[in-house]
Amino acid sequence: MVSLPDELIDIVKCNNPKCISNNEPMRTRFHVIDRDNIVLRCHHCERTVHQNELTLK
Ligand SMILES: [Zn+2]
Repeated sequence: MVSLPDELIDIVKCNNPKCISNNEPMRTRFHVIDRDNIVLRCHHCERTVHQNELTLK
């Protein structure tokens, strides 16, 4: 098991096309809200991203 940090900075891409992180040259930032199932929440738009829809930057 790999343990996740509380935040993922500039690792995962947000899958909301309207998210500011997809429209501005900036780092993405995600909060890990469920370590067991790997659920992340975008800091910028609050979109929830599940493991099966993760896109690495
Ligand atoms: Zn976002």
